[in-house]
Amino acid sequence: CGIVGYVGSQEATPIILDGLRRLEYRGYDSAGVCTIAAGRAAVRRSEGKLINLERLVTEAPLTGTIGIGHTRWATHGKPSETNAHPHQAGSIIVVHNGIIENYLELKARLKADGREFKSETDTEVISHLIDEKYAATGTFVEAVRLALQELRGAYAVCILCEQEPNVLVAAKQGSPMVVGLGAGEFFVASDIPAILSHTREMVFLEDGEMVVFREGTPSFSRVTGEPLEKTSRHIDWSP
Ligand code: GLU
Repeated sequence: CGIVGYVGSQEATPIILDGLRRLEYRGYDSAGVCTIAAGRAAVRRSEGKLINLERLVTEAPLTGTIGIGHTRWATHGKPSETNAHPHQAGSIIVVHNGIIENYLELKARLKADGREFKSETDTEVISHLIDEKYAATGTFVEAVRLALQELRGAYAVCILCEQEPNVLVAAKQGSPMVVGLGAGEFFVASDIPAILSHTREMVFLEDGEMVVFREGTPSFSRVTGEPLEKTSRHIDWSP
């Protein structure tokens, strides 16, 4: 339901939690966050209100200057900690808004290939599919491209890879995703208010587009690989 991602030089967790709080009005049943520090991904998830996740993060702090967070409105699988995002499969960690229509057939194939699923969500199929392509190609961004082209349905996704800990990828098909440009730092969100206190320079992804943040620059492209020049818009309204 709500997505926030951050990559820069500040601690990611407070920025992500603040952004998720600004999307609370949309409703949700669980929440989670993942950061990567020193090449290790750490995930915290909890059922219920954001305050539960905030308590968890206070008890077991997350560090790292790259991260993704999510508030979930369950469509496939009951509201629970296990079904809350982010979903990790191998090296790949995903948060997702929307519905993957062909998730059952993809899940059956991935299971037949020996992959074990921990949740009932359609989202976990995305993380396994990307991880499968990553195992085959060894390239995070290429793996994302190949996997997303096998999905049918609607998604806004934000993805991390433990093996490429400085790279964040976001993509959209049918669900909104906006990119915020800061000074040496970048934000992604499913809606403007989540990141408006950090930057007013925004780039709106269109269906079939993705962005890769790596080494302090965003590069935009189609999911199929074609590079794109995107221009930012200055947002001068206040929520
Ligand atoms: N379909 C996904 C799930 O049920 C994402 C739901 C959402 O948009 O929050 O986990």
